[in-house]
Amino acid sequence: MEDESRKTKAEKVLAAYKERYRDVADKTPQDLGLSPEVVLEFVNSVVTILDKKGCNDSREKPISRKVLETMGVPQDVADQFLRLCEYRGGICDCKLCIYIGEVIGHGPDD
Ligand SMILES: [Zn+2]
Repeated sequence: MEDESRKTKAEKVLAAYKERYRDVADKTPQDLGLSPEVVLEFVNSVVTILDKKGCNDSREKPISRKVLETMGVPQDVADQFLRLCEYRGGICDCKLCIYIGEVIGHGPDD
């Protein structure tokens, strides 16, 4: 009985979380026009900058935003892509790099 109610609560939390990211929850970077190669290029640049400057643990993800801008990714695509990363656990610049595998799924090599 207790397990049932716990499960229900967990399901509610998950449903609310998914609802909050409804606009991107079922999307892939490819749906946004970003190929896995482009995403890897993006992550490489972010990691390089993180190595020098470190992460400020901000949800604004200033390094990621800057790199996307430099790569010429349109603002609305960048916004959706960063929300997608956040949905998959990338809540700041460094976590975005850690969870990028969840975002792009399996690469062309596997
Ligand atoms: Zn961080």
